[in-house]
Amino acid sequence: MRLIPAKQILSPWSDGRGWFGSNYTINLYKGCSHGCIYCDSRSDCYRVENFDEVRSKTDALQILEDELSRKRRRGLVAAGAMSDPYNPLEQTHRLTRGSLALLCRYGFGASVLTKSDLVVRDLDLFQRIRQQAPAVVKFSITTWDDDLSFMIEPHAPGSDRRFAALKEASAAGLYTGINLWPVLPFITDTEENVRRVVDRAAACGARFVCPSPHFCVTLRQNQRIYYYQQLDKLFPGLRRRYVHTFGRQYECRSPQSDYLWEVLQSRCQEHGLLCTMEDISAAITNQWPQQLTLF
Ligand code: SF4
Repeated sequence: MRLIPAKQILSPWSDGRGWFGSNYTINLYKGCSHGCIYCDSRSDCYRVENFDEVRSKTDALQILEDELSRKRRRGLVAAGAMSDPYNPLEQTHRLTRGSLALLCRYGFGASVLTKSDLVVRDLDLFQRIRQQAPAVVKFSITTWDDDLSFMIEPHAPGSDRRFAALKEASAAGLYTGINLWPVLPFITDTEENVRRVVDRAAACGARFVCPSPHFCVTLRQNQRIYYYQQLDKLFPGLRRRYVHTFGRQYECRSPQSDYLWEVLQSRCQEHGLLCTMEDISAAITNQWPQQLTLF
């Protein structure tokens, strides 16, 4: 794996009122090899050349340890915003595992978003973190249908393996959930998909299913071009429907987004799952032991 220079791993502190109650973010890897056809991180604006090649940052764990040791505020550290922390190279390079050990040592919480069941390897560390701070394992699952997941996320473990990993993480006592994100108009925006994802999430012990805002996929610059090229290969004729419906809009909402939101909300209510960012973030923040919430 190629190494690239880095000065900083941990982002500056934020008040945790943002997404999923996190206060810091980390990206140990650059690029991602899971090949999701809709991936926003391949957009030009992020300036990640050769996005499908995973690189790691030189001395990433040493830099992270130095940053953690100097932070005056503990907080919840989130991984997985720009690349998957459990890409296949993590199996041997163990940077994500190393970072979890450091978060544990310095009293920080950990939150990961992944499409890989490799996360199960690290449940022991999440359990140790959970004794002093929130430990959150989120799975990105866009479809209940294993075959469809291999079409739109060709190099990631399929949905069935992700659900199985979700079940293991929940059984280990961790706070778990699903990001149903993005929702692809005319592909995954069906009532059946929403119902089945929520039902399986509940059966696997998840605490929330968080849909993409407005049940949409966002498209811009080269990422739109890449997405349309993949549509041409996988769903011939669908590009025309996108162009006709959305033009060059950034946010491409499912035409039935309002209905899908109703379906998701009522299904989550039946199962006792959370589904709004506000409620999920509050629930995660409540995982901090009482004496630390003053931070
Ligand atoms: S797993 Fe995430 S970062 Fe990787 S290609 Fe898929 S959407 Fe992009």
